[in-house]
Amino acid sequence: ATPMSIMTATGRGAQAGVLIKNAEALERFEKVDTLIVDKTGTLTEGKPRLVAVVAENGHDETEVLRLAASLERGSEHPLAEAIVRGAEERGVELAAAGDFEAVTGKGVKGTVDGRAVALGNLAMIRELGLEAGGLTEKANGRRDEGETVMFVVVDNGVAGLVCVADPVKETTPDALKALHELGFRIIMATGDNERTAKAVAARLGIDEIRADVLPEDKARIIQELQQQGRKVAMAGDGVNDAPALAQADVGIAMGTGADVAIESAGFTLVKGNLDGIVRARRLAHGTMRNIR
Ligand code: ADP
Ligand code: MG
Repeated sequence: ATPMSIMTATGRGAQAGVLIKNAEALERFEKVDTLIVDKTGTLTEGKPRLVAVVAENGHDETEVLRLAASLERGSEHPLAEAIVRGAEERGVELAAAGDFEAVTGKGVKGTVDGRAVALGNLAMIRELGLEAGGLTEKANGRRDEGETVMFVVVDNGVAGLVCVADPVKETTPDALKALHELGFRIIMATGDNERTAKAVAARLGIDEIRADVLPEDKARIIQELQQQGRKVAMAGDGVNDAPALAQADVGIAMGTGADVAIESAGFTLVKGNLDGIVRARRLAHGTMRNIR
């Protein structure tokens, strides 16, 4: 493209809330056929809320929440914030935690009031040598509603569940519809559980899901698609998404997301809404057509 047409596109993009890093990003985007989208913070608002606490094996709901939230104060994960806020809103008084450890893609563990406490996904439970047992069915029921469910372990036994819901952004359904009409294959990648992922994907008509994905796996998934000859754009918001944004033919960051994600991306959607991608595609197409 000519410098002039690129400048015009960049200016129009900025007006429409799409920051375009360089001409190459715009050129490459015209060839993209596959769009990978992160779930949390990209399709959803990324502001999860605590919606339920389940206690089992003789434990008490408030106590399960108190132990879980006390431990989660040590974590900066959005799920942790939801649990801490949920406890505070319910007037639960939190205790100091010790030996805090975050296990990437799985959960957290430590001690509260001298008791061993852990919470996270099934991988976390398994790492502790435990099984979900009777809570599996309850967990699955909530996941089918699109909720993220975490198991709480106290003194080396499964004590309950904390369930968190993260609403889909208002703009997401229409944006995905328009992106489909533009011919993109849309794949959702998430560290969340497959059941939760399926529930969210089904509502949005997403073509394919990759769930239970560890942070380092997102870049590898993109690389595999590229080796199959696909041109891949990746939309994400988190620190974890940065390697994948860099690996993609075009990385698309949410302006509402982490700085490192924005630095790794070719496009930034200022408002963090996927409809920005629809506008970017029209711009890329218009620019390239003008110079042919
Ligand atoms: P993503 O941001 O793509 O949803 P993550 O890799 O951050 O995925 O997390 C994957 C899963 O690991 C979460 O769905 C949750 O079950 C568990 N997890 C991660 N961090 C925490 C935490 N601080 N507390 C409880 N569970 C966690
Ligand atoms: Mg995210």
